[in-house]
Parts: sequence; C-alpha cells; structure tokens
Amino acid sequence: MGAPSRNPAVRTHAVYSLEDSGRRIALTFDDGPDPQYTPQVLRILAQYNVQATFCVIGENAVQYPQLLHDIANGGHAVANHSWTHPQLTKLKPAAARSELARTSDLIEKVLGAPPDWARAPYGDWNPVTLGICADLGMEPLGWSVDTNDWARPGTRSITNSVLRDVKDGSIVLCHDGGGNRSQTVAAVRNYLPRLLDSGFVPVRPEL
Ligand SMILES: [Zn+2]
Repeated sequence: MGAPSRNPAVRTHAVYSLEDSGRRIALTFDDGPDPQYTPQVLRILAQYNVQATFCVIGENAVQYPQLLHDIANGGHAVANHSWTHPQLTKLKPAAARSELARTSDLIEKVLGAPPDWARAPYGDWNPVTLGICADLGMEPLGWSVDTNDWARPGTRSITNSVLRDVKDGSIVLCHDGGGNRSQTVAAVRNYLPRLLDSGFVPVRPEL
C-alpha cells in the first residue's frame, strides 16, 4: 500500500458544494464502473468536453480496470466509493478503514495515483470515518443536488431535478452503476447542454 500523497485535516462534515465556485458545478456518478452505462456517460461528457467525478466501488473496479483508465483518460476524477458499498458507520473502524484503503490501493495500482476524494455510501459519515478518510489522504465528497436517479423516477424527473435545483457550486449526484441506468444516461444527454447554455461550468472538484 502506498503512502497517502496528501495529509488533509480531518473535516467535521463532507464537502457539499464547491467553494468560491463562480459558475462552476461538479457532476458526480456513483456505483460504477459499469460496462454498459459508464462508457455511455463518458461519450456524452466527451461530446461536450466536460469533466466529472466517478465514485467507483472497488469490487466493480477490480472487474473492469480498463474502465478506470477510460475515465481517467477522459480527464475525469476517480473517487473512492468503498469496496462493497456498506454503511461505513455501522462497521468497526478497522473494517471501515479496510473498505476505503482497499479501494484506494486498487485505484493507485491501476492508475498510478491514489484518489483525492472519497464518497461514503449513502453519504453516511461520522467522526470516526471522517478521520479514516483524512488518514488515507482523501477529502470527503458530499453532494447538494440529489437526482434520485437510482430509483428510476423517469428521465424527465431526473432532468428536471437537476435543472430546477442546480446553482453555483452545486455538486450533483447521479449513478452510472448499480442497476439499469438508461434513464440517467438519457437525462445527462438532456440536462448537460442546457446547463452549459445557462453558463454553468462542470469541473472536477478542486482541493
Ligand atoms: Zn453509492
């Protein structure tokens, strides 16, 4: 296991929006990589030359390392979303640490650098897991716009929730893995050009 490349302070809560954002926002895609849907999202992002963040599950990433390369080669950030997607705060600290450390190690092994960000499954952080996150050299990534796309509410609902709720600095939560994500893909195709027309600038979150 490599030493953390960074030594961040322990935060009291996750980062829910971008600081000093101007019109910048962050689009985030969780629970992949997925061989069907991740490439579709990547193609749309590339079409608009937009960078996003993919919060990957270790047990998926280990099956599809090429998708990690495809994400990184597109200029996107790869974040740690744990190995098996448990509620980290329900685990003993050693087990929570293992969930995050194992995933960081895999990302580092595949891409040559460990992730800068971790997103707890369900956004479920507490002081213990925030401490583990910092100890592993990562910042905790939250969100401020939840599309509820995982529940497949319909492409229009996902699109509308983004266009209705996004504002300067928003971090938008979508899912490219964990089930049928065709609604999410269709929604990205709808909302992304409209966000750009409105002057929003999707970026990777900065440290
Ligand atoms: Zn998740």
